[in-house]
Amino acid sequence: MLKGKVAIVTGGTRGIGIAIVRKYLDNGATVVLCGSRKETVDKAVETLRGENPEYNVEGIWPNLSSIEEVKEAFENVKKTYGKIDILVNNAGISARDSIYDYKAEDFSKIMDLNVNAVFNCSQVVALIMKKQQGGVILNTSSMVSIYGQPSGCGYPTSKFAVNGLTKSLARELGKDNIRVNAVAPGVTNTDMVKNLPDEIIKPLISTIPLGRVGEPEDIANAFLYLASDMASYVTGVVLSVDGAARS
Ligand code: NAD
Repeated sequence: MLKGKVAIVTGGTRGIGIAIVRKYLDNGATVVLCGSRKETVDKAVETLRGENPEYNVEGIWPNLSSIEEVKEAFENVKKTYGKIDILVNNAGISARDSIYDYKAEDFSKIMDLNVNAVFNCSQVVALIMKKQQGGVILNTSSMVSIYGQPSGCGYPTSKFAVNGLTKSLARELGKDNIRVNAVAPGVTNTDMVKNLPDEIIKPLISTIPLGRVGEPEDIANAFLYLASDMASYVTGVVLSVDGAARS
C-alpha cells in the first residue's frame, strides 16, 4: 500500500511508533524513524533490520523542540531520498499529576513535545511537501482529546491542541494537496500499560466494549490506511481507535 513512499515517524523507537514503522516497511515504504537518543534509535533500527534485512530503514535523533534541528534533519532526508511523502508526529509523553501540585515546568514540558514539536515538524515538512505538490501529515492524538481525564490535565490539553492543529492544517494545506489527519488511540498495550498491575488493568478493561486494550498493531493499521491512497479523500479527521472506550 505504500510502495515507493518515503515516511518519517517520530517516536518510532518503541510502542505505537515502532508498530507504525514496521507496518509501513511491510507495505513497501522507506522509513526514517526518529527518537530522542542515538542509542535507542540505533537499537530500534538494528532490531528491525534483524527482523527483515530487506527493510529500508534508518534513524535520526533531532531535538524536535528545535525547529533548526528539525529543519536540518528533514532536509537531509529529502536530499537522500528525493522527497518526503508521509510524516507521522507520534512522539509524546504524559503525566498524571493533580492540578493541586502540577509544576508549571512539567506542564510546559508536555506541551513542548506533544504540541510545539508537532508544529515544528509539520511546518518544516509542509514547506517540503508544498514544493513537491503533495503529502500526508498524521498525528497521534488520544481518546483523552475527546473526553479529558480526571488527573494530569497537561496531557489531554496537549492532545486537544493536536486535534486543533490537525483540523486547521487540513483546511489550510488542502489546496497544496497535503492531507492532515490524526488517530486517537484508546488504552494501548505499550510498555506503560504492560507494567500496570492487575487491579488497575482489569477494571479498565471492563469499561471497554470490545473487552480488551488495543494492540500497537491495531493503531498502526489506522495509520496505514490514512497514509495510503485508500484515504485520498480523507482529511481533517481524528479517527478513534479505542474499542469504544469512554472513560
Ligand atoms: P512510548 O513511551 O512507548 O513511546 C514514546 C516514543 O516517543 C518513543 O519512541 C520515544 O523515543 C519518543 N519520545 C519520548 N520523548 C521524546 C522526546 N523528548 N523527543 C523525541 N522523542 C521522544 O509511548 P506510546 O504509548 O507508544 O505513545 C506513542 C504516542 O501514542 C504518544 O503520542 C502517546 O501520547 C500516544 N498514545 C498512547 C496511548 C497508550 O495507551 N499507549 C494512548 C493514546 C495515545
